[in-house]
Amino acid sequence: MSFCIACGAAGQHLIPPGDNLPRLVCPRCGHIHYENPRMVVGCVAEWEGRILLCRRAIAPRLGYWTLPAGFMENGESAAAAARRETQEEAGALVRIDAPFAMVSIAHINQIHFFYRGQLTTPDYAAGEESLEVALFHPDTIPWDDLSFRSVRYCLEAYLRDKPQGRFGFHEHELPPLTG
Ligand code: ZN
Repeated sequence: MSFCIACGAAGQHLIPPGDNLPRLVCPRCGHIHYENPRMVVGCVAEWEGRILLCRRAIAPRLGYWTLPAGFMENGESAAAAARRETQEEAGALVRIDAPFAMVSIAHINQIHFFYRGQLTTPDYAAGEESLEVALFHPDTIPWDDLSFRSVRYCLEAYLRDKPQGRFGFHEHELPPLTG
């Protein structure tokens, strides 16, 4: 049973007039509760050729390494979200250079969007959601201990582009894990 967030009445799953998918509709006040994909935004931040990674202090994937990233807040731009997450999780200030990768993960209703940028200082410190933070030379990326497939995809694309001296924009769709 799901309840109306506007008035608390028990909602009904039905297709509203003019719509084409079932929504949670309130029979009392008429509120329609739309559920849409969520944006996770982060960045590949470099300092002198090394890449900033955080080891997660929270589930899911506690203890695994990730790029600084997190859910966007209402009222902020995507680039602001990437800067904020880098500051919150890694205690680091990043100058965003450009959009870099977008990964659709339809089965969990998320889009993971990564910028690339440069740290403005070599200072960093683990935030509340990180066990530790470190700069990794491309040869020492902990590939076996990465947190998410989107992070792996983004890092692989980044390290393919980097030696060529030019970065593209990379779009990818991740299917459900099988087996
Ligand atoms: Zn209602």
